[in-house]
Amino acid sequence: MNTATNNILTATKTLLPVMEQFYTLQGEGVFNGQAAYFVRLGGCDVGCTWCDVKDSWDAAAHPQRTITDIISPIIAEHKGKIVVVTGGEPAMHNLVELTAALQKQGFRTHIETSGAHPLTGAWDWVCVSPKKFKFPLESVLAQADELKIIVYNKHDLVWAEQHAALVPDRCALLLQPEWSKEQEILPLMIEYVMQNPSWRVSLQTHKYMDIP
Ligand code: SF4
Repeated sequence: MNTATNNILTATKTLLPVMEQFYTLQGEGVFNGQAAYFVRLGGCDVGCTWCDVKDSWDAAAHPQRTITDIISPIIAEHKGKIVVVTGGEPAMHNLVELTAALQKQGFRTHIETSGAHPLTGAWDWVCVSPKKFKFPLESVLAQADELKIIVYNKHDLVWAEQHAALVPDRCALLLQPEWSKEQEILPLMIEYVMQNPSWRVSLQTHKYMDIP
């Protein structure tokens, strides 16, 4: 890291609980298949019963890292340009300094959020995946570039349309089967998208590729 870079990073004061960070492919959504560096922050108060990262819920269970600690390996390891901040619920934290530092280093900042907390920071891509366990804020839906609805049963399609009415026109609309229900619910989703082509299907391809 050169001196200029070091100065940018050491100027920040924020500490964030990091559960894990790793370089992989984005496995779902609009950027599916593209190289991306993931930063998974601890802490979530949404409480989805089917959550597959329940270890993330307790922020105190994860080490507090400085922005320098988080960004240094990204600069060293990441040949791509996308950094996805996820969780847990990453919007529970102040992400102003993290996103500023990432953008100064030339990275695109993407967030995956339930929308249940106001956003902080500067984002190049906002993916909102609303959850019934803690409703999204309309102010966050208004910033969405991507609306990703997890479909557990056919009633979720009605819920999807209710949220689609609250996002900007530019927002991509995605229906993604909940993993354990995929075989059961996918035929219904395919038929729905054929009848309602503003939507598209998103699959969790990282689980097929066996990557994180
Ligand atoms: Fe799990 Fe995400 Fe739901 Fe939080 S919002 S409980 S991390 S699925």
